[in-house]
Amino acid sequence: MTVIPTPGRLAAGGQVRHATPRQRRRQAVARCGASGPCLWGGKHFSSGKEPVENSPATPMLQHLVYKIKSTGPITVAEYMKEVLTNPVKGYYVHRDMLGEKGDFITSPEISQIFGELLGIWFISEWMATGKSATFQLVELGPGRGTLAGDILRVFSQLGSVLKKCDISIHLVEVSQKLSEIQALTLTEEKVPLERDAESPVYMKGVTKSGIPVSWYRDLQDVPKEHSFYVAHEFFDVLPVHKFQKTPQGWREVLIDIDPQVSDKLRFVLAPCATPAEAFIQHDETRDHVEVCPEAGVIIQELSQRIALTGGAALIADYGHDGTKTDTFRGFCGHKLHDVLIAPGTADLTADVDFSYLRRMAQGTVASLGPIKQQTFLKNMGIDVRLKVLLDKSTEPSLRQQLLQGYDMLMNPKKMGERFNFFALLPHQRLHARSHEINANHSKPSPSPVAGFSELTWQ
Ligand code: SAH
Repeated sequence: MTVIPTPGRLAAGGQVRHATPRQRRRQAVARCGASGPCLWGGKHFSSGKEPVENSPATPMLQHLVYKIKSTGPITVAEYMKEVLTNPVKGYYVHRDMLGEKGDFITSPEISQIFGELLGIWFISEWMATGKSATFQLVELGPGRGTLAGDILRVFSQLGSVLKKCDISIHLVEVSQKLSEIQALTLTEEKVPLERDAESPVYMKGVTKSGIPVSWYRDLQDVPKEHSFYVAHEFFDVLPVHKFQKTPQGWREVLIDIDPQVSDKLRFVLAPCATPAEAFIQHDETRDHVEVCPEAGVIIQELSQRIALTGGAALIADYGHDGTKTDTFRGFCGHKLHDVLIAPGTADLTADVDFSYLRRMAQGTVASLGPIKQQTFLKNMGIDVRLKVLLDKSTEPSLRQQLLQGYDMLMNPKKMGERFNFFALLPHQRLHARSHEINANHSKPSPSPVAGFSELTWQ
């Protein structure tokens, strides 16, 4: 049984998110969302399949053409990395792509309830693992900072539970633009931000509730202290290598310049084996696969940290369990977008292979999931939280927004079944320790983890 304070205590301080101008824009997205695919369609639901015919020679395309002409065809992983996170021209680096005017919308942007339930999950795990004196909340790829903001609101509301705990926030973000937006969302304006572009901690500030917050480009630079990690729609933007089975064996899909059309890219197959083939399982039965070594490196880093210092990681994304083949795709203006057209103007993404994440964690930490978002949020008490917020809201538009947000998160045809939750936990979190076994003279029963089994309110 997972025990955390009652929803009543949360509700006492719990409020509908204040509607700042930014949030009013978000509400507009959620409101229109239910009525048309262009608004709620986003990254995950778009039915727009029409490819863009003209390929504008974007600065990124020119950069890639130059690169390919100099050194030959590039892997899909190198293409994704350049297009998304090149420090000068990368898609993520200088723009805000989230929301109505952007290219896609995510769960934290759709409903405040999403972040609140994740906040409860972290407190629940912190309590279940002995209420450590320090609590580092580390978010990978925090977008606009909305999820962290909603989690922090729960922490404030449960201040009496966390009052002796030394909390700090650590954001791993490569985007200059998004880190500025995160600072606007999270920090207290009166306390100036400290900036040092050369330092691994490139920005520091203090949140509205007085908690220190630091920004890093790399997880490696986050202090190796007792931490709780969250990654929402982060793993899907990490670069994948694509492979195709041929009579000669696995061949990597590469990106080359089309010899017939200037400034046009095309896929080709590598003539011989390439190093990333090492990431394909020996008993692989699919004939097309995508592998994401960077995801493996990050999972191993998270696993080692959790094994060493305790804590947990919660990963939520769309993905599969080692079954899908071609999932590499682009999104622009809430529609599917040809990945090779106008690079740098559209998001690129691939489904997360959770079976690979599990293998990378194995032996170091325990993993749970993936389970469907619908099941996770239900177990976390989304229905109770929705009811509390509905009872508190008198404004009809706000009530409607809450209900539409709930539908988008939970409906199996929308995000309910497309998104999965996956957790990394220290082995001892799921297995009673030896002294407990001896004391009880009985087989230890695993202690349930909220979300992956029903959360019990007390
Ligand atoms: N978690 C947010 C945003 C998802 S978009 C949400 O759900 O709303 C992906 C996020 O990851 C962006 O903030 C992007 O800038 C960041 N990102 C992409 N590649 C990254 C990398 N290699 N390292 C750190 N952050 C990265």
